[in-house]
Amino acid sequence: MSFSDLPPLLAEALSERGYREPTPVQAAVLDEGAHGRDLIVSAQTGSGKTVAFGLSAAGELLEGDRVAPSREPLLLVIAPTRELALQVSRELTWLYGKAGGRIATCVGGMDASKERRTLSYGAQIVVGTPGRLRDHLERGALDLSALRVAVLDEADEMLDMGFREDLEEILDASPAERRTLLFSATMPKPIVALAKRYQRDALRIST
Ligand code: AMP
Repeated sequence: MSFSDLPPLLAEALSERGYREPTPVQAAVLDEGAHGRDLIVSAQTGSGKTVAFGLSAAGELLEGDRVAPSREPLLLVIAPTRELALQVSRELTWLYGKAGGRIATCVGGMDASKERRTLSYGAQIVVGTPGRLRDHLERGALDLSALRVAVLDEADEMLDMGFREDLEEILDASPAERRTLLFSATMPKPIVALAKRYQRDALRIST
């Protein structure tokens, strides 16, 4: 599949950004066999993984050519650090902005009340760090009842940093029929255990 086969507003955003060809990990997730599946992906930073999971979620996010007008998040991306979460948020903003995607970023060290306000205005995409997301969840500011895709970005880092319980609480609060996309540079036993618990029939991708 090439970028020109994507829904027009996504193809346009990629082309304006100057991206002509999918990277290997992007080509793998765009393959028809990966559509709608849970994915466990070995991917390094720099492989184009952010655009890969962004595009992988298109089937669940879009209604026609536009992001579905949901007040609650349809896509949640959990990342280990504030820097990575902000970077992911910027990438998803140019990718889905034209299609009407509203994105809320929830990261430790930022003003939590401002984040709660942004969440209350409604966002179809939420990106954040585990502790802050759990905080919003526990205070009732984050409603995961409509979630369709959960992405764990740099999952090995998140486990190394001690975020396992936060991740479990977040995933346990989201619908069982969601998709779960797990991205990790390495696949040690704790990652395999997490995948076993939270994924169904995951397709393994390593590029
Ligand atoms: P990531 O692996 O998500 O950190 O992405 C690494 C860098 O590659 C980012 O700056 C992306 O914007 C860029 N990138 C992602 N996809 C493509 C593509 N298909 N062609 C060229 N650059 C890309």
